[in-house]
Formats: sequence, C-alpha cells, structure tokens
Amino acid sequence: MNKQIILESRPEGKPEKENFEFQEFDESENKDLTLQSKFISVDPYLRGRMRDEKSYIEPFEVGKPLESMIVSEVTDSKNDKFKKGDHVIGMLDWKKQQQHSGEGLRKVDPSMAPLSAYLGVLGLTGLTAYLALDKIGNLKEGETLLVSGAAGAVGSVVGQIGKIKGCKVVGIAGSDEKIEHIQKKFGFDAGINYKTTDNMKKAIKDACPDGVDVYFDNVGGEILDAALQNINKAARIINCGAISIYNKTEVPTGPRPEGILIKKSALMQGFLVRDHMEDFERAISELAGWLKSGELKYDETIVEGFDKTPQAFIDLFDGKNLGKMVVKV
Ligand code: NAP
Repeated sequence: MNKQIILESRPEGKPEKENFEFQEFDESENKDLTLQSKFISVDPYLRGRMRDEKSYIEPFEVGKPLESMIVSEVTDSKNDKFKKGDHVIGMLDWKKQQQHSGEGLRKVDPSMAPLSAYLGVLGLTGLTAYLALDKIGNLKEGETLLVSGAAGAVGSVVGQIGKIKGCKVVGIAGSDEKIEHIQKKFGFDAGINYKTTDNMKKAIKDACPDGVDVYFDNVGGEILDAALQNINKAARIINCGAISIYNKTEVPTGPRPEGILIKKSALMQGFLVRDHMEDFERAISELAGWLKSGELKYDETIVEGFDKTPQAFIDLFDGKNLGKMVVKV
C-alpha cells in the first residue's frame, strides 16, 4: 500500500497535527514515471497555501494531498528524458510513491551535492537569498546588512553572502545558541536574540552603530518595525517573508512606515523567488562555486520518516530547525 498526507482541515492559528491526515491507498493512475520520494521540503510559505485565499499560488484543497518541493528517485520510466535510477526534483505530492508525467521535473546529480542540498542551499531557499540580494539588496562593501530568521535556511545564506560582499552582518534569531552558531560557523559580526530582548529598536541600534543599509526581512511584524527605526539614507528593505504573522487570524497593524521611508529615501520591496526563474542557473552556478571554495556553508535539520512530515512543518513555527528543515523519507 502507498501512503499520502492530505490536508484534513484548514488550521486556525498555528497548524496542528489534527489538520493533517495519513491515508493508505492503491495507486490507480499509470503515468510515464514512477517516483519514490527521498527528501521532502517543508517550508513556512506552505502555511499560506492552507488558507482558502487567492494568492500567487493556488491554495491547498481540503481532502487532497499537500505538495512541496521533493527530491525523488525514478523507479520506473517510460519517458525518454528520465531513466530508472535518476534523481529528480519538482513540486510533488506528499506521497511515498507517485506516478508522474515528468513535466516540470528537473534531474539532480547526487555526485555534485547531497540530494537534500537541492531543497536548500542549491534550491529555492539558497536562490531566494541570492536573488533577493541581487535584485533588491544591491550590497556595497562596508555597508551594514541586517537579517532576521538569521539561523534559518534563507537567513543563514543571506548573512554569508553579505560577508562575501564585504559587509558588516548582523543576524536576528530566536536563541542564544543560534546567535553563537551564526557567528562561529557563518562569520556573522553580531547577533540579537529577539526572544530575550525587550527593546529591539535599541538592540539593533547597539549592534548596528552605523545604521542599517540593507534589512533582509524574513519575519515581518514588530521586528520589521524595529529595523525600520534604524535605517540609513537610501536603505533597501527586502520583504522576503513574514513568518511572525503567518499564523495570525487577523493581520496585526503597527507604526506606519511611510514617514521613515520618505525621510530616508528608502526602498521597501516585496520579493518572490518564482518571479526570477530566468536567473536560477546563474545563481546556482555562483552558489555552487562558493560551496566548492568553502566560502559558503550550510545547515540542515533532517527529520527521519515520512510520517514526521507534518510535525517537521509545524516545528518551523517554534524555531526547532537550524538551516533548512527537510524530511528524509
Ligand atoms: P527558516 O528560516 O529555515 O525557518 C523558519 C524560522 O523562522 C524558524 O526557524 C524560526 O527561527 C523563525 N520564526 C518562527 N516563528 C517566528 C516568529 N514569530 N518571529 C520571528 N521568527 C520566527 O525558513 P526559510 O525557509 O528560510 O524561510 C524564511 C522566510 O523566508 C519565511 O518567512 C519564508 O516564508 C520566506 N521565504 C520567502 C521566499 C520568497 O520567494 N519570498 C522564498 C523562501 C522563503 P527562530 O528560532 O529564529 O525564531
């Protein structure tokens, strides 16, 4: 019997195990490829797809399997592009095995990098870090880069690119261990534990005495408000993610940013990695080069077992991951 994970109900607030259901089923479809899931990516943005809301991507349907980026092995093929034993990546259902036409899948090479890395540093989170900085950040040597979610998949790569570009890099994360880790392993100059800091505006001012030139925002909410209070003239604010509000039933309001943005001639811009597919090859080639030279390092939190997929996803909202959260099937 095959196994799949469906959305049982839409979460109210923080997702819970009860929102997911495991189903055993016999595969009735017969398509060109049979795929065996190897590594499943769990990502904060999947929370948005659990709402019944129009967005840049279709919402999940209740009663249907969830999907995310998955690295799979081809175990049977009637498709000229892929042969048995190949590894492929694509947006796939949360199923142990699945039938697939092959459309939208890309081969990945396990001899170039561990398979899980294609979901993180050489996948969408690495690409997000690289391309958001490339398209909006416009980092200059000597500038101060502030990044939230700094010990996560996107944030840890952002900080390291900042160091490669010769910037002073300050990270915000949710524990002292994470702050120590990003300084020791990734070379961040300083860090702020937002969970033990009651005045974020002051903490950012202390950590960034020359002000913030680029703020890479992965969390939104009050941390964004505090970062804005510290921006320099012509600062760039990258709205990449807003995990602090993903589980809110009502979107919280805060201080209005327009006054600061005008006074500082600052740019605040949203970013979606999927808008930049034409740049993926260039970005992956530079990220892979930095990995090879040792200038770029990465963390993964690998949770073992298909059945742990919902919990691994839920744990993102409690900061239980270091780097990319991935499920090994
Ligand atoms: P991640 O940072 O690896 O994992 C999420 C992290 O968020 C957790 O480890 C946790 O770390 C932190 N967090 C959870 N709740 C929080 C809260 N209330 N306030 C502050 N921090 C909180 O995830 P990721 O995949 O790299 O994604 C990071 C952000 O980028 C997310 O917002 C995601 O939606 C966004 N993203 C955007 C794009 C795009 O194209 N725009 C693409 C990929 C990802 P702590 O222990 O530090 O709290």
